[in-house]
Amino acid sequence: MEPKSTNAPLKATVVVPVFNEENVISIFLETIEELFKARPDIQLEILFVNDGSTDATLARLIELQDMGHQIRIIDLSRNFGKEAALAAGLHHATGQVVIPIDVDLQDDPKLIFDMIEKWREGYEVVLGRRIDRSTDTRLKRVTANAFYYVHNLISQPKISSNVGDFRLMDRKVVEAFRSLPESRRFSKGLFAWVGFRSTYVDYSRTPRVAGCSKFNGWKLWNFALEGFTSFSTAPLRFWTYFGLGISLTSFLYALLIITKVLIRGIDVPGYASLIVAIMFFGGLQLMGIGILGEYLGRTYIESKRRPIFIVREAIEPSKNA
Ligand code: UDP
Ligand code: MG
Repeated sequence: MEPKSTNAPLKATVVVPVFNEENVISIFLETIEELFKARPDIQLEILFVNDGSTDATLARLIELQDMGHQIRIIDLSRNFGKEAALAAGLHHATGQVVIPIDVDLQDDPKLIFDMIEKWREGYEVVLGRRIDRSTDTRLKRVTANAFYYVHNLISQPKISSNVGDFRLMDRKVVEAFRSLPESRRFSKGLFAWVGFRSTYVDYSRTPRVAGCSKFNGWKLWNFALEGFTSFSTAPLRFWTYFGLGISLTSFLYALLIITKVLIRGIDVPGYASLIVAIMFFGGLQLMGIGILGEYLGRTYIESKRRPIFIVREAIEPSKNA
């Protein structure tokens, strides 16, 4: 690993996806500008991706830009979701290192300096690792742990349970990420998949400064399904072995019944056990088909090769401001 020379000037891009965040943007911008004032050695590019906000988010951004703040705005044509917004940001970022960060200041921007230190040591990815999740609800913590456990059981590469999207990436990593052709993106997994030398910086996640979370239980459940199906075919293969097991058992059972009938004559068949077996296996079959459907549906969407996001307009700051 080769350390970078410390006095070389560095251009860093922070990518900030925003969806209905009119109350949060100025606090975020003030905080980050204040922080970077003390670091003239780092040229900061702030790139907001407006993910189809329906409130005054875009108007606020343009207003701030007109006031002379050097911010770039990528305005998406509708709400594409955070994953797509991030992809759009990475696509337009020009920095030598790129840092996606949430606008709600749950990820402490001060950490960016520590990340840059690590990058200078020669790491290509520096992950922000949450040391505690006390700001999340108990339910969210339990379900998140269950998700990572199952995901890592069935998928390669493994993903760490305590890292989110807050991380620093070298340009090489951004290019690798951009070169992935799929349109349905589970970034956490994809970032792990592209590899590179990575390390961590630890932080604790604070509550949102304003506004409210955009992720509810249903969205997170679908996000989890995306994760499972993006990186593993184990849920599909499971049915092969399960079916094999069931067939084998029923074959042995059939032998048993035949022997019994031969020895003791015709038995009165049990209605209850019959109906239970029918319902049980009917349910199992539907589940199997459902899982098949999850994969088939994703293959179908992927086969259309639609772009990940559509940009309505890129609004650049005027140079003379
Ligand atoms: N976000 C987005 N598109 C969406 C949902 C969220 O760009 O469809 C942005 C949001 O504005 C914020 C970040 O993603 O900057 C994280 O969202 P949030 O704080 O709601 O997520 P949480 O912290 O609750 O996981
Ligand atoms: Mg948040």
